[in-house]
Amino acid sequence: MPFLDAGAAYRELRADIDAALQRVAASGRYLLGAELEGFEAEFAAYCDNDHCVAVGSGCDALELALRALGIGPGDEVVVPAHTFIGTWVAVSATGARPVAVDPTPDGLSMDTAQVEAAITPRTRAVMPVHLYGHPADLDPLSAIAERHGLAVVEDAAQAHGARYRGRRIGSGHVVAFSFYPGKNLGAMGDGGAVVTGDAAVADRVRLLRNCGSREKYRHEVQATNSRLDEFQAAVLRAKLPRLEAWNARRIRTAERYTRSLGSLPQIAVPVTAPWADPVWHLYVIRCAERDELRRRIERAGVRTLIHYPVAPHRTPAYADDPAGAPAGTHPRSERLAAESLSLPLGPHLGDEAFDAVVAAVRAAAVGLPAYPTPDGTGVRTERTTPDGHRLPLSTEKR
Ligand SMILES: *Cc1c(COP(=O)(O)O)cnc(C)c1O
Repeated sequence: MPFLDAGAAYRELRADIDAALQRVAASGRYLLGAELEGFEAEFAAYCDNDHCVAVGSGCDALELALRALGIGPGDEVVVPAHTFIGTWVAVSATGARPVAVDPTPDGLSMDTAQVEAAITPRTRAVMPVHLYGHPADLDPLSAIAERHGLAVVEDAAQAHGARYRGRRIGSGHVVAFSFYPGKNLGAMGDGGAVVTGDAAVADRVRLLRNCGSREKYRHEVQATNSRLDEFQAAVLRAKLPRLEAWNARRIRTAERYTRSLGSLPQIAVPVTAPWADPVWHLYVIRCAERDELRRRIERAGVRTLIHYPVAPHRTPAYADDPAGAPAGTHPRSERLAAESLSLPLGPHLGDEAFDAVVAAVRAAAVGLPAYPTPDGTGVRTERTTPDGHRLPLSTEKR
């Protein structure tokens, strides 16, 4: 069983997507045309925001969002240590330096005390990541940012459609999305977007994505070329109306996983914070013997993935960079890298495949050690958040 069948969405919408691709091919307009404009308006509306500027990838969306805010060499941006490295490389690409902080113990958000401690006179922005489709705790981070005069640039590459305290992810000040094929809303190639309520930021990203020009051969700033092409925009327009239904299927599958696996002592299932309506980009369990668990599951024919096996500060990419750091620097992130395992999850995962995954995980867990609790008590019925709330260990909401 594959981890994800990226072609399944196409097969579901084949007639619509084929028609859209032919429409673009016949139009003779392949860049900066009606499909792009249409998609930008439709995705901004979906996000409950005013502006969407679509670009070549999620990394570009993050980079151009930062550059639009004037962030560059000499600046620092506070990022999570536990994230896809794309968050970091986008900061580095501007010339600024990513400064990492560990997550809260549940891995769901940035540790606010560590964010405060990471702020220096060079800090310009905080970049929360809505990892695995679960919103980060934005309000405390926004409060810190406001107190220190920092921008909040959200990495929503995994969270199309999620909600934070009822508000759509994407309705914030500056939010970057990816349309990489495996994302909740995926193109048939690369794509990304900056969504913002700030007209000046939108205008600046429009300039930056198009060689610094609004009008042909009138170049106002040094910029790059990062445009979402008309084919990708047309595919995304065909898929966007299905996103809510696809996310609902992900949520249902995640809840079924938790009901089926939540009582296994050897694994910890993912939790949902009371502020969150996640969209389950990934379903990530934890196990003290993750590698052995994974070997056994794969032997049963089920493909799993690890998101992510090496924390960015421990990769060769940051070995010679001040952001790189020796083992033990961000212990919670390193532990997550060692214990996390993603199970197959997507809108097109069938019941039979779901049952096969559950059976494989249950069988694989036999004989492995119980998963330790963060406080070491061995009782895993609830957890305590850093601000003292006690939450049940389940995906049931509120
Ligand atoms: C996918 C992803 C990115 C980068 O998006 P691309 O479109 O692949 O460039 C950035 N951050 C996170 C958290 C992602 O999951």
